Amino acid sequence: MLTLNQAVHNLDELIKKVEFTRLQVSPHKIVQIIGVSKYNTSDDVALLYQAGQRAFGENKVQDLKEKQDALEDLPLSWHFIGTLQKNKINNLIDLNPILMHSLDSLDLASELDKKLKLKNKTMNCLLQINSSFEKTKAGVKPTDAVFIYKTIEEKYENIKLKGVMSIGANSSNKDDIVKSFRLTKEIFDRCDGATICSMGMSSDFELAILNGSTMIRVGSSLFKSN
Ligand SMILES: *Cc1c(COP(=O)(O)O)cnc(C)c1O
Repeated sequence: MLTLNQAVHNLDELIKKVEFTRLQVSPHKIVQIIGVSKYNTSDDVALLYQAGQRAFGENKVQDLKEKQDALEDLPLSWHFIGTLQKNKINNLIDLNPILMHSLDSLDLASELDKKLKLKNKTMNCLLQINSSFEKTKAGVKPTDAVFIYKTIEEKYENIKLKGVMSIGANSSNKDDIVKSFRLTKEIFDRCDGATICSMGMSSDFELAILNGSTMIRVGSSLFKSN
């Protein structure tokens, strides 16, 4: 079970590593930490909040709703980071996530935009890119990404694209992971107006920061209980 002491320790350790790494890139580089709470309880999130963490992410719409409801008195910002099924779009819109990281096709963008318009709302989104070319991963193909980014910006007014998201290559080879991050960063640089490059998780956030990440999504190492 997570305790407050452990939560403080985990967050301190993470911030130390993020600080050390970002300073190797530039003193002006800012990296935002999203605490991914998908394997944890609302009580654990409350402990991380007490430790100082404010931004959290969930990968299922139902779990996001449950955590938001349980923690509605805390000033948290909530991110959605999972694959969005079309039949859950309305539910997600109603939860007002501060950022949706996982817009992964033009088809989904079209449906999401249509439903946003009906509710007269907008949503901040990132285009998810499958930069490691893995069949099991969601995301648009790297070669199509800039075109799709522009198309969404032009056609789908209620989607506010803020940048890109990617999951590092699932590999024990550091070079493969770096390659996938560099590819995402190159695409990010070619998307006019993009300010958020969301990449890096517990096992690879340092490599991600060194290669251009501005937002990391950290679950297991932030919530670990020993
Ligand atoms: C689970 C998850 C994370 C966090 O993974 P950890 O390895 O636990 O840090 C980050 N991003 C996405 C999209 C996830 O699903």
